[in-house]
Amino acid sequence: MGGITLPQSEVLRVIGVHKRYGPVTAVDGIDLTIEPGGIFGLLGPNGAGKTTTLEMIEGLRRPDKGQIRYGEWDLLHSPKVARERFGVQLQTSAFFELLKVDETIDLFSSFYRRTLPREQLVERFELQEKRSAYVQNLSGGQRQRLAVAVALVNDPEVVFLDEPTAGLDPQARRNVWDAVRKLREEGRTVVLTTHYMDEAQTLCDHLAVMDHGRILDEGSPQELIQRHRPGALIELDPSVPLTDDVEIPAVDRVERDATATSLVTQRLDEALAGLAAWAHGHGVPLTGLRTRTATLEDVFLQLTGRSLRD
Ligand code: ATP
Repeated sequence: MGGITLPQSEVLRVIGVHKRYGPVTAVDGIDLTIEPGGIFGLLGPNGAGKTTTLEMIEGLRRPDKGQIRYGEWDLLHSPKVARERFGVQLQTSAFFELLKVDETIDLFSSFYRRTLPREQLVERFELQEKRSAYVQNLSGGQRQRLAVAVALVNDPEVVFLDEPTAGLDPQARRNVWDAVRKLREEGRTVVLTTHYMDEAQTLCDHLAVMDHGRILDEGSPQELIQRHRPGALIELDPSVPLTDDVEIPAVDRVERDATATSLVTQRLDEALAGLAAWAHGHGVPLTGLRTRTATLEDVFLQLTGRSLRD
């Protein structure tokens, strides 16, 4: 990065952290270990406690109980460490609408001793043509790129992004993902929150699934899928007359929801052949037949009993 050597980031640990807002328990005793140099995602529905967790790690909120450690430092006693080494993406609504892009970057840079050159940030986030534009005239994607640029002004070791692609169109989301991957390539640690399954699955090296202020499980996206929903699904229209106790080789069980009847199997070839034979024997057309492997959405459903989009 422009001749600047990035200091090595450290392991970030959240230990037994709780946070209440009056009667609401937002974070209910969580432990996390965030290894340096990867993209760590906190995945959960609205109100799960993701933002509160992020803000406590960033030093913007104080936990009621617990510790937050960065390498050797106890951040609750050394808040300056977080200020100097962490970069925080603000909600784009926190920007001043009547400042220009350049002025916004300069304003945030003025808070720090050590900063990256504005030119470098403007170029890197493809804001050259917008540098003299007022923030209020930026598109959603440009605002979000400015928000990530501002999170980098102090050349941080750890970058925190709260719902970095919320509300963006698919192309703008992909641009933000590329920017996030570049942070990882530079050796920075990225900690982000999301309630988008595809984002969690394609972007994150490690995920903690959060609901009601607790961590339900964590691991790489593949580990979570393997642990909770291994194998494949054969889906059919719900109208296909398959009973729960249907005997088809290699089918472990039958699951139903409003959109599909699903056969769960660890041996897809065998189950498909068995299903075809069963359908032929019973004169039943296999309408809507499709197969797929499980996704994080299925994992979430398995862990919580409800869909992330509820
Ligand atoms: P979202 O995606 O909606 O931001 P989240 O997973 O980030 O959700 P939090 O914003 O951390 O969750 O909220 C966790 C719980 O704490 C929610 O029930 C929320 O209503 C409550 N909460 C959050 N901030 C405050 C606050 N400042 N005062 C009172 N309650 C709050």
